Amino acid sequence: MIDPIYLDYAATTPVDPRVQTAMLPYFNETFGNPSSVHCFGQKAEAAVESARETVAAALNCQPDEIVFTSCGSESDNLALRGTALARREKTGANLILTSRVEHHAVSKTAEALANHFGFKVEWLEPDASGVISPETVEAAICRDTAIVSVMYANNEIGTINPVAEIAAVCRVHSVPFHTDAVQAAAYLPVDVRVLGVELMSLGAHKFYGPKGVGALYVRKGTPLLPIQTGGGQEFGLRAGTQNVPYIVGFAEALRLTVEERNERIAHVKPLQDHMIGTVLESIPDARLTGHPTTRLPNHCSFAFKRMDGNLLLTLLDVAGYACSSGSACKTGNPEPSEVMTAIGISREWGLGSLRVSLGLGTTPAQVDSFLKKLPELVEKARKLGK
Ligand SMILES: *Cc1c(COP(=O)(O)O)cnc(C)c1O
Repeated sequence: MIDPIYLDYAATTPVDPRVQTAMLPYFNETFGNPSSVHCFGQKAEAAVESARETVAAALNCQPDEIVFTSCGSESDNLALRGTALARREKTGANLILTSRVEHHAVSKTAEALANHFGFKVEWLEPDASGVISPETVEAAICRDTAIVSVMYANNEIGTINPVAEIAAVCRVHSVPFHTDAVQAAAYLPVDVRVLGVELMSLGAHKFYGPKGVGALYVRKGTPLLPIQTGGGQEFGLRAGTQNVPYIVGFAEALRLTVEERNERIAHVKPLQDHMIGTVLESIPDARLTGHPTTRLPNHCSFAFKRMDGNLLLTLLDVAGYACSSGSACKTGNPEPSEVMTAIGISREWGLGSLRVSLGLGTTPAQVDSFLKKLPELVEKARKLGK
């Protein structure tokens, strides 16, 4: 048996051992309910509040602007549902502006708000690289807009959006702006004052923290109704006893990510350059999807003409390489992904997508091994698919 090589860090990352160590005392030693009055509760509450301060320092905001959630998807749901409903109640605004290339946690939520809550959705079109321009937002935003949501960096094609410029447009129109930074936070600056956003979603498992914990930054004064009601936890915005060890893990993972950002970029960027350059050189009818330069430094996404992407994934898996064809949730879907279609990639190319995402555990030897094997597997997938 060969040791499989993991090249799917955009789907999830392993937990940093330092993060795991920080979490451990909060399963047994310090197990109290943060809402309890006694000393057990106080110790747990202190851990949550210390984590909140750590996160606030990393994002350059106030601790009471952080709401801990169960994942990136929940943060996206709270931002969209909570703000759309609160804004409509206050102002009557009824329109949700979001892009065609969002993660399903945003796009399906916008659709649900349209189908079941009477909102209208207007979809912002990306350019061929997947970028949503501030001009596109400016052209669509109006008095009826309840919220604008545009992702910071795309999980499927790696493209980075001009979030600060889009935020500036929204500010002029006094419309709250949400960005899904779940994929971006591993490598891009997350200073919310610089970005100028009202709402920003994060999820720990994309930056070497545990799965099942996320956070939503909510700028003070942003209209937001809770979507999960019950106890008064998280400033009344997210009921439920806090997941203390995971919140501690979230904070430690984010702290390390911000502190070590430059080293992490320095590790993955040369590997990315080598990966993209070699794939385009060594494989006929191959193209890069997403932006050639304004992209996450660990993210490589390709399309191969007349090839079944899912078949290639299986061949790669058997050969010992774990990759993805776009968003992990979409495998098994015989249509090209919405993102491929939105950036104008034809079916002939769009079905043959491949995402190779690198991380802290990726070595030059792993990349070389993959690059050596890929051409023959693409050829094989093309032959088998005929
Ligand atoms: C992974 C991801 C999500 C979902 O986060 P979970 O924590 O897995 O729920 C949302 N948006 C983007 C861009 C992502 O990459």
